[in-house]
Amino acid sequence: MTVLHNKVSRQLLRERLMKEDFRRVTLSFYRYFYVDDVQALRDALYIKWSALGCLGRIYVAREGINAQMSVPEHEMEAFTAHLHAVDGLQQVPLKIAVEDDGRSFIKLNVKIRPKLVADGLADGSFDVTNVGTHLTAEEFNQAMDLPGAVVVDMRNHYESEVGRFEGAVCPDADTFRDELPMVAQILEGKEEQPVLLYCTGGIRCEKASAYLRHKGFSQVHQLHGGIIDYVRQVRTQNLTNRFLGKNFVFDDRMGERISEHILAACHQCGQACDEHVNCANTACHHLFIQCSTCRVALSGCCSTECQAIMEAHQAGQAEQGGQAEQAMHDGQAEQAMRDGQAEQGGQAMHDRQAEQAQPSPSNQPSSVAQPTVYRKGRPPGRTEAAAPHAVHPA
Ligand SMILES: [Zn+2]
Ligand SMILES: [Zn+2]
Repeated sequence: MTVLHNKVSRQLLRERLMKEDFRRVTLSFYRYFYVDDVQALRDALYIKWSALGCLGRIYVAREGINAQMSVPEHEMEAFTAHLHAVDGLQQVPLKIAVEDDGRSFIKLNVKIRPKLVADGLADGSFDVTNVGTHLTAEEFNQAMDLPGAVVVDMRNHYESEVGRFEGAVCPDADTFRDELPMVAQILEGKEEQPVLLYCTGGIRCEKASAYLRHKGFSQVHQLHGGIIDYVRQVRTQNLTNRFLGKNFVFDDRMGERISEHILAACHQCGQACDEHVNCANTACHHLFIQCSTCRVALSGCCSTECQAIMEAHQAGQAEQGGQAEQAMHDGQAEQAMRDGQAEQGGQAMHDRQAEQAQPSPSNQPSSVAQPTVYRKGRPPGRTEAAAPHAVHPA
């Protein structure tokens, strides 16, 4: 029987990748469609893609596929031909990372998951392919001005905390699973109004728009390609940018600046800041916002307790620290993808985009957050469950 999993060590895989004398194309795609035999599709893709030398992180579920991968440049034609011949994946659009170094993945990982994005809904409870209208950046801008339009951020609270569309409703959700019913509740009574959904790369809105249509909302629209493609369109077509602050992405920098607005505050001292960090105590790894002053004072930790733990263990762990960190990063990336975070592809893709990104200052002055000290990990104004948080920057 064919070995359908990779058994080689990380170190060896990395060395192998560095020695390659060809270029790789980093790409991503997703689609909701009904998969009859998940295991058979998973195995077929794994066999074909390993033969082509593809690497990446791919999730296959009964409701579709979500893939972030790298393909040897000389195999792109064969890859695309095979992919588009798969039942349900005809013409699936590939998002290709421009100027990527192709080193985003070191192995091929095709996993079976109950859901593409963890949503907590029972399979078949509604038609996931009955999605909302897809809007371009220009159409989204225009639709925001429609009478009664409600803009809804379908991301988690820590994402909308540092950046969001003007006037967007930002549910206080930790996960997409929590967010769906929350949004339906927030929008109750607005069934006939235009609802404009957006997320990072578009995949969460595919599910959310189908869910809201199922709940009786008649005018559901979604930003096609998410914030990432919105920004690209705004820059290439010279459109008005209506996204304020940072687009949170799950890479090492935790976000790309889109406008000069600082919408968030340091979770420790309350000064205006939108720099996300993970607690330097790897056993904690809590995600929070920390200014540079507090970072120095607390050695990058979320609390004095974590600082003490980290400093006590630092020397002893120096030897294995690198590995632990890598494992942690992998785990985080995987969790992120499950939650629909990393829908737009690998870390390198985001890094590249960030490098190309020029901040596009708007006419509005930067808003200054009120100095507030609040409890660990929760921004002000978002501590009450299901409370919509309309944003009106200064
Ligand atoms: Zn601070
Ligand atoms: Zn901590």
